[in-house]
Amino acid sequence: MALTGVEIFKLLPKTNCKKCGHPTCLAFAMKLAQRQASLDACPDVSEEAKKVLGEASAPPIRSIALGSGDKAVKMGEENVLFRHEKRFVNPCAFAVEVKDSMSDDEINNTVDGVLNSEIDRVGQKLRIDAILVSNASNDAGRFEGVVKAIASKAPAVPLIIATGNPAAAEAAVKAVADKKPLLYGADESNADAMANIAKTHKIPLGVTAKGLDALTALTEKIKGLGVEDMVIDPGARTAKEIIEANTYIRRAAIKKNFKALGYPVITLAQRDDKMVEALIAVLGVTKYSSIVVLSSIEKWKNLALFTLRQNIYTDPQVPMQVEQKVYKIGEATPESPLTITTNFSLTYFIVSGEIENSKVPTRLAVMDCEGLSVLTAWAAGKFTASKIAQFIQESGIENEISHKELIIPGYVAILSGAIEDKLPGWKVTVGPREANALPAFLKSR
Ligand code: SF4
Repeated sequence: MALTGVEIFKLLPKTNCKKCGHPTCLAFAMKLAQRQASLDACPDVSEEAKKVLGEASAPPIRSIALGSGDKAVKMGEENVLFRHEKRFVNPCAFAVEVKDSMSDDEINNTVDGVLNSEIDRVGQKLRIDAILVSNASNDAGRFEGVVKAIASKAPAVPLIIATGNPAAAEAAVKAVADKKPLLYGADESNADAMANIAKTHKIPLGVTAKGLDALTALTEKIKGLGVEDMVIDPGARTAKEIIEANTYIRRAAIKKNFKALGYPVITLAQRDDKMVEALIAVLGVTKYSSIVVLSSIEKWKNLALFTLRQNIYTDPQVPMQVEQKVYKIGEATPESPLTITTNFSLTYFIVSGEIENSKVPTRLAVMDCEGLSVLTAWAAGKFTASKIAQFIQESGIENEISHKELIIPGYVAILSGAIEDKLPGWKVTVGPREANALPAFLKSR
């Protein structure tokens, strides 16, 4: 069970020295209990207290990394059942299965599909994150060869090595151990050997059992064998089983701090019917899977799943914002038009996208309005004539352009006169209300 604030307080130095940034040890203890502070912030905590509190203040779902380098995937660290309570932390990863029984051409095509899956949506790079290589051939030599070939063709893509055969697992893991793959396939029959491989190569272990009781017994056994980093598969395959098992696991971890199930969950969504596969994947993204494995890559499926994942894992408390500055779009020259908008990410990416479509090189002044859209920022008094004038003056843009014309969004046409008053010598032109009218507007000038 998690410790209460008072229980944590008893273990702190009780000097109220404020070095942790909190006025008292009790206030810090309360934040620790709510998992809103890190124990590292107190420099004077004793080693003994650190041991007890470290365990108690760790996220209820263990933090696990899959792969290494820029494209490594972080999983776990979740603290809440529902996103509106705080936020979900690490987005669910999508992996596509490559069977080692597939032809080399099929394997190459699938790996190419992964490498080309990346799309840019409101400034975030979204992609198929990992490849699960399965030993469908039951041939350890073929398995090792396919794992090596994929690692060489796609060195940055995290790998999941899926086999229940410890001999095949050992050879394949050894070949790519530096890439920190996940070894998936430990069960009751092979737990000792698989745990030994994971421990030797310091990689996470995917553990599977049918049902939560069996899974709990297995993770406790494997932890006893010295493997801390696990990803769990409760054997759920139907939609109903997946929702039930994933929800029980999340509740047990978050509400009861039940460590034996406090691990990221992997969901095998592969189905012959791609629509059903997409729906199973949607359940996984929505209800607590940390990895969803797909059988194939289709652009329609990617788009739906990427968008859903992005929406669910966007922090609802923090508006998505871009940096305040004047962006050059295209080969903007001093004569190019100057437009202005707010720094809500969606607004910025839609407006800049439409300007790009127009092929008219343009400067886009993006003003910090705390991530609000144009109309909301105007209504909130953050996108006003005075603030726009101040931003334009302080940006230094006057020294970079050969004119003094500012194009404002049509929705705030009402501000045009007041901006001209605040910016002597400037002409304010009212642009279109909707961004999709920008290309025609810019081309017509
Ligand atoms: S730094 Fe440690 S000792 Fe000082 S107030 Fe914070 S919790 Fe208490």
